[in-house]
Amino acid sequence: MPPTGFSARTSAWRRWMLLLQRSLGRGTAEDRMRFEGRCHCGNLEVTFETSQPAAGIPLRECACSFCRRHGSTAVADPAGRLEVRARVAAEVSPYRFGLRTADFLVCRICGVFVAAVCDVGGATYATLNCNVLEARERFTQSPARVNYDGETADERIARRRRVWTPAVVRGWRAPASPPMEPG
Ligand SMILES: [Zn+2]
Repeated sequence: MPPTGFSARTSAWRRWMLLLQRSLGRGTAEDRMRFEGRCHCGNLEVTFETSQPAAGIPLRECACSFCRRHGSTAVADPAGRLEVRARVAAEVSPYRFGLRTADFLVCRICGVFVAAVCDVGGATYATLNCNVLEARERFTQSPARVNYDGETADERIARRRRVWTPAVVRGWRAPASPPMEPG
């Protein structure tokens, strides 16, 4: 049976809608770059979707003593999406320190810090350690040095909502009460 022309009209309409969305500055699923990553042993996996090319996305080097000890470089995109997947939840250490407003997810098996996550008003936001991405060399901006020591808890949560990546965490749930830091 010959094509009726309906599918041709539909795909023309889809192309037109894509052009319209792009001209309005709205990213579509097709515009998003997708990067995969994981901790060293693979217990924690991530998929980072960003609306920006890797070479243009800003990186941050947080001055806090946790990030400096891990040598992590933070990447986040408030217009993107991050998925964190844990294979064995019991092997994920949710480390909290300072104001204890976020869980820093460290793999208990291999010791890699993957991402920090926090819940704000029923939504989850995260910042990713760029070093866990397979394509980390494509993130070529020099990291901005940042220091959040002077923030109140409210300021910190507001900043994360503004600049961190909307996230979902699968296979692991934040504990109800914050675990105590040693010492
Ligand atoms: Zn691991």
